[in-house]
Amino acid sequence: MGGCVRDLLLGREPKDFDVVTDARPAEIKSLFRNCRLIGRRFRLAHIYFGRQIIEVATFRGSDPSGDRLIQNGRLLRDNVYGTLQEDVWRRDFTVNALYYSAHDYSVVDYVGGMKDHARRVLRLIGDPERRYREDPVRMLRAVRFSSKLGFTIDPASNDVIKEMSGLLSQIPAARLYDEVLKLFLSGVAVQTFEQLCRYHLFGMLFSETQKALTSDKDGFSNEFLVKALENTDTRIREGKPVTAYFLLAAFLWEPVRIRWQDRLNKGEGSFMAVQQAAAEVIPIQSKTTALPRRVSFPMREVWCLQPRFKIRSGDRPFRLLAHPRFRAAYDFLVLRATTGDADPALAAWWDSFQFSDEAEQKKMLRRSVPRHRRRKRSRSGQKGSVSKNDG
Ligand code: ATP
Ligand code: MG
Repeated sequence: MGGCVRDLLLGREPKDFDVVTDARPAEIKSLFRNCRLIGRRFRLAHIYFGRQIIEVATFRGSDPSGDRLIQNGRLLRDNVYGTLQEDVWRRDFTVNALYYSAHDYSVVDYVGGMKDHARRVLRLIGDPERRYREDPVRMLRAVRFSSKLGFTIDPASNDVIKEMSGLLSQIPAARLYDEVLKLFLSGVAVQTFEQLCRYHLFGMLFSETQKALTSDKDGFSNEFLVKALENTDTRIREGKPVTAYFLLAAFLWEPVRIRWQDRLNKGEGSFMAVQQAAAEVIPIQSKTTALPRRVSFPMREVWCLQPRFKIRSGDRPFRLLAHPRFRAAYDFLVLRATTGDADPALAAWWDSFQFSDEAEQKKMLRRSVPRHRRRKRSRSGQKGSVSKNDG
């Protein structure tokens, strides 16, 4: 049901298949040995077929005396079971409320989902304000599906988003992190980003980035982010892997870069300054979208390696090359260079350095040290500026 029926009707390959049934979670578990029950807020069964997981939910109903918790209009728990006819009404959009019946191979549609699907319209079932209040993440889903599927959001569901976007502050950070990944690993990250900005949703997810973007007069940081998202989309289209940490490193770069620069201006050393900048930004962001350590750690490494690219003498470049995060950090440098935030010549130098043999590398290192500084080599890269056109 849901997304897979919607996608199949579009001739697209569904990301996953969600199954609904009248069997209770415990009954599902007793039927499948390879089954695990998950979720408290919303109890579900996961059935494992090799690496594939089929998510199986029990129809939700409307019995007011059941295990349901609503606070300030927000639906915090829903484990009231019911029938298919009842289940339909708790779905978000009409095109997501289509059920494919394994009994008679028909599509069951109680809410006009087929018609909306044919017209490429996303329409919330019921009163939009109430439905967004129940679960503000539906605003992000509206943007995600409209970008991904090219559907338009029905005016009634559309017009209230801007004024209700603030409700996202109530959503647990772990759930928003998951949602951010779905939004930006969809293959249409650029459109998604632009839409999120238009609906004032982006600032609810990345407040520090939003601040940096609005204080930026020449749109330069915006350009960096859009480039990063274009790269992500291209990689996904080409079937190449995309890492969450690289994407998030790009999202948070501008707030890190500004803090780094501020600290440099105060005379701090470059390495220390970027570390401190990272140490400030990560906890702020984690409050909104959780950042698991497996993401925040490499993200910080990518940032903190940036000043090290400027050092092109001694054995430091070899150590940098051997660093496990070299490749990602180098890609990040290239990205910075394409938008004027780092010297393109520096990126080009590292491009040849990494692919040269050792003898050539040594020659390159000798060449890159300016003649007048060969005798007394200063610890270059320790201090300086990180504004546009700098390493
Ligand atoms: P995709 O899997 O392609 O991202 P999907 O529509 O299948 O899209 P899922 O998150 O897998 O989305 O959810 C499956 C179905 O569950 C949806 O189609 C929708 O009917 C329902 N659903 C999911 N999240 C919500 C929500 N926050 N509010 C209401 N219904 C939801
Ligand atoms: Mg799905």
